Amino acid sequence: MAEETLLYEGKAKKVFATSDPGVVRVLYKDDATAFNGEKRGTIVGKGAINNQMSNLLFRYLEEHGVPTHFVEEVSERETLVRKVEIIPLEVVVRNLAAGSFSKRFGIEEGTVLERPLVEFYYKNDALGDPLVTDDHALILHLATEKDLAELRRLALAVNDLLIQRFREAGLILVDFKLEFGRLPSGELVLADEISPDTCRLWDERTREKLDKDRFRRDLGGVEEAYQEVWARLKGGVAR
Ligand code: UDP
Repeated sequence: MAEETLLYEGKAKKVFATSDPGVVRVLYKDDATAFNGEKRGTIVGKGAINNQMSNLLFRYLEEHGVPTHFVEEVSERETLVRKVEIIPLEVVVRNLAAGSFSKRFGIEEGTVLERPLVEFYYKNDALGDPLVTDDHALILHLATEKDLAELRRLALAVNDLLIQRFREAGLILVDFKLEFGRLPSGELVLADEISPDTCRLWDERTREKLDKDRFRRDLGGVEEAYQEVWARLKGGVAR
């Protein structure tokens, strides 16, 4: 087998070159981090679940008109994706108050927001990924006006589609984070992943947390929560 060229290693993934310069191979790890890398651990089976769940959702979004980087799943933990230049903004969409939003504004977790909220965070570990306004993003040259409008439009379209898909699995989509990348053509496409690492998902009946908050907040049952989300989505049905 040809030598593998590791292009990048992040907290949860490794990215390798392929024979096609326009395509890279992503390998999902079981490593988990929180609070900007301060808390570390392993969630057994997470890599395989996040990979397959992300791919299921990216295919679903593609079918509904959202462009993504997805090319082909090559194993439980590995996927080929189009090589993109990542926009250095994390795009967070919120339907219910939770996490940093609840903390920042003193609003109780679970409060339903009157409409979906889109926030941008500057992807910069050294700075702790600060929240940025549109003007910050423009003045720091993180994105153009046109990009910001497109990111907002795509994020809201993804939100509508995901709310529906998760509802069918008996899950409430509280909030989530997206990343986008630019193709050589200039087109913005959805990149990174959509998984319990990047979404807050609550059981629709019990409101039990079935996502990375179980790891962040030491709630126990972390592996089981990831498996439950994946089983429900794959089954495609409410219980
Ligand atoms: N999120 C993420 N990566 C980050 C920060 C946030 O995937 O680096 C996700 C997080 O899982 C949640 C949403 O974005 O679904 C909003 O996160 P929040 O701003 O509330 O921050 P947190 O409380 O997770 O620190």
